[in-house]
Amino acid sequence: MTSAVLPPRLFIKEPIPAIFEVCSLLSAAADSHLNGEHEVAEALFCQADMREIWNWINPDWEKPHLNVRNHQLEGDTLEIPKTMRDPVRHPPLHVKAAVLARDGYRCRYCGIPVIHADIRKIAHALYPDAIPWQASDPSKQHAAFQCLWLQYDHVVPHSHGGSSAEENIVISCALCNFGKDRYTLRQLGLCDPRLRPPTPVLWNGLECLRACALPRSRPPKAPAANRDVREVLEAAPSKIGGLAYSNAFFLPGSWIQGEYLYTAPIAGKERWFKIGQELIAEPVTRNGITGCRLLCDPGLFRRRGLSPEALLDPEHSD
Ligand SMILES: [Zn+2]
Repeated sequence: MTSAVLPPRLFIKEPIPAIFEVCSLLSAAADSHLNGEHEVAEALFCQADMREIWNWINPDWEKPHLNVRNHQLEGDTLEIPKTMRDPVRHPPLHVKAAVLARDGYRCRYCGIPVIHADIRKIAHALYPDAIPWQASDPSKQHAAFQCLWLQYDHVVPHSHGGSSAEENIVISCALCNFGKDRYTLRQLGLCDPRLRPPTPVLWNGLECLRACALPRSRPPKAPAANRDVREVLEAAPSKIGGLAYSNAFFLPGSWIQGEYLYTAPIAGKERWFKIGQELIAEPVTRNGITGCRLLCDPGLFRRRGLSPEALLDPEHSD
């Protein structure tokens, strides 16, 4: 029992100004990349790999027990048996999409900007030397991308009966999520972030890079023939032309190679689809972002655990 309970805090660790400085560097790097100034982009990504940021996040995110203020408070929730926990351990994609739409690219605890892991993977593939990332070794991870790593945090820990539904999930940074680990808000002495509304922020998590994914060096399957997409479009069955308006999708950063459509990472994974009777695709640009427009049955996405609603084409010309 703790004799003196400290007043609740908003976050585990107060953000430092350098975090916001690296966001400016990363934005400038992304802009330079989009302008074709690759050397400038590379230099800016290198500059953003700041030791100061590294020292801010480490080791607090890896040693969550050090963040505990109160070990056992009367009336706090307790760990429950695994059989009684929400069988959905991780929030499903539609919950993640709703939470991101609600919270934006900003930690609900400490307020720092965040970047989706998909974007980090794309940036790492583009600039592997400037953006080091070894999943198994945090000491070999780019400090800014580590610090700004977007997480979906269970406010009430899953192990304490917290659900993976939208009401219990908030966007957080790596330190706030990993630093909380399985501990409750009361154990950590944290205010409930859901009691203050999400605040809008101009930062969009470098999403402009999503369209810049490098084509895979090796397709998962050798295409049977290297037919031109126009040929496929012309050969498509008539039912495609009759598809409903809502069945047009846009995948930013995707490209066509042979009879396959390859995507930038969606929810952490690069995907590929076979073009043919069930799907036709053509390269398009939407709001300056290149990608492909798809006509297909929404079930094609659902079968892969993706939400077709999140992939609808913003422009329907048919
Ligand atoms: Zn945070």
